[in-house]
Amino acid sequence: MATQASESDVIIIGGGHNGLVCAGYLARAGRSVRVFEARDVLGGAAITEEFHPGFRNSVYSYSVSLLHPQVIADLSLERHGLEIMERAAGTLSLLDNDHLLLTRDDAQARAEIARFSARDADRIEQFESEISTVAIALRQLAIQSPPDFGGGWRDLMQLLSAGNVARKLGAQAQKVLATLMTSSLGDYLDSWFEGEALKGVLGLEGVIGNFASPYQSGTAYILLHHAFGEVGGRAGAWGIARGGMGAISDAMASFARAQGVALETGTPVEEILLDGKKAVGVRLADGRTFNSRQVAANVHPQTLLTRMLDPSLLNEEDRRRVDGYRSHSATFRMNVALSELPQFTSMAGRGDAHFQGAIEVSPSLAYIDQAYLDAKQTGWAKKPVISMQVPTTQDDSLAPPGAHVASLFCQHFQRHLPSGQSWDDVREQVADEVINTIDAYAPNFKGAVLGRQIKTPLDIERDLGMIGGDIFHGALHLDQFYAMRPIPGYASYRMPVDNVFLCGSGAHPGGGVTGLPGRNAAQAMLRSR
Ligand SMILES: Cc1cc2nc3c(=O)[nH]c(=O)nc-3n(C[C@H](O)[C@H](O)[C@H](O)COP(=O)(O)OP(=O)(O)OC[C@H]3O[C@@H](n4cnc5c(N)ncnc54)[C@H](O)[C@@H]3O)c2cc1C
Repeated sequence: MATQASESDVIIIGGGHNGLVCAGYLARAGRSVRVFEARDVLGGAAITEEFHPGFRNSVYSYSVSLLHPQVIADLSLERHGLEIMERAAGTLSLLDNDHLLLTRDDAQARAEIARFSARDADRIEQFESEISTVAIALRQLAIQSPPDFGGGWRDLMQLLSAGNVARKLGAQAQKVLATLMTSSLGDYLDSWFEGEALKGVLGLEGVIGNFASPYQSGTAYILLHHAFGEVGGRAGAWGIARGGMGAISDAMASFARAQGVALETGTPVEEILLDGKKAVGVRLADGRTFNSRQVAANVHPQTLLTRMLDPSLLNEEDRRRVDGYRSHSATFRMNVALSELPQFTSMAGRGDAHFQGAIEVSPSLAYIDQAYLDAKQTGWAKKPVISMQVPTTQDDSLAPPGAHVASLFCQHFQRHLPSGQSWDDVREQVADEVINTIDAYAPNFKGAVLGRQIKTPLDIERDLGMIGGDIFHGALHLDQFYAMRPIPGYASYRMPVDNVFLCGSGAHPGGGVTGLPGRNAAQAMLRSR
């Protein structure tokens, strides 16, 4: 098929939220932009769908905190329909015949922690302040392009700027940062607290999307990654988007369209076209070709560097690093349509306020570790770590009156089952086990389920192209972080071929609905001549 006559300044491969953000920034700066999205819907892992008649919910990502306020402001997302509501309640952690209820009232939370350990109650404030001080530094680094090893003067300036952020932290926070970067989650929490319930619920943040034992070095960092966000100016807070996560992508798409971006769905890109070592456009799976001066890829880094580009363009060392890029977050996601709210035995007579927060099944670090060990051995956790959210308690647009939807976000579930079975063979059985796990705390739960949507690690890979089912487009471990993401030498969004940029979660600062890889890549593209 012939090359299309029209040429745009930029083609973006993938209309995930980062592709849309990248498109929005570039178009705002006057570039003509065309986005090709493989699926029939824009938004990638940030979409809302009807999964049971009359019941809608976010399909993959479900909770907002990391979406950067600068992105919200620059792309006028509120004017384009986005409403983010902070979760009104705190966290309910379910325990055998008990619970740990940490509301947003500090005095209540301290008293609740003291039921398990008075020493922990004395320390919690200092712990939270330690994490949030360091998270501030991370927030600053997240919005800057990392330096490339052996780069030019701009990389040197970036390195100096990053050094300055670390310098401003002061000696105490620098020590904390170094500890969080190198410690295991388990050792770090053990050094602070003695109550198993508290360590379990705090530890959950560290295993989200991170297939590792909580006692593996480097795992403490994920605590920080999940703390660098904010909602409505409140640091570390989490919220929900009215209408589900699709509302975020819809607002981004609406802004992009208003700037003249051409958004095309059902158009998978097969290959990036080169003239020598310079990109000149793309070829779609249907054979059509389109020219552009720059190409930005919102896809997984391995897809870009080994499938859309000829891998022989990489030198041997880089090829080895790309092949060895770790991508397996071991995540299983379900939505359930509910005829009534679950009645947690230990919360009988305590009202429903806790449904406006996070409800966690993560009773101890030992429980988290066992979930990891089971998944390593048999493919999935027999007793999974589960984070539950019931958005219908704050958003009446998702279910019929009186009914509810719940998001269930579960760890650990390996992408490849050691038995050699396919996830398609075991999905219903595993979903039953997830429901049984919750039913043990709320015996009306199973009976209240009217319908369910299951996303196994295979579905996540198959639907979105997230290799290994990795929700972050690659593990957020230290060797795949900052100047090392996705691999050393390609951290500044520029790829080994001229005019090709990475604008998805495989780039700094990594996964989550942040908009930052898209924003930062757009800045790099605007700087590039
Ligand atoms: C189950 C799950 C739960 C999560 N929960 C949360 C959460 O609660 N909060 C949070 O902040 N983050 C969460 N995350 C992480 C977050 O959603 C992702 O890191 C983020 O949405 C990725 O955005 P992206 O734009 O970089 O990539 P994606 O969303 O992966 O977008 C990439 C796009 O590229 C398209 N594409 C792929 N190949 C091609 C091709 N050949 N041609 C054209 N298009 C192509 C894909 O279809 C997709 O639309 C979750 C993720 C998952 C999967």
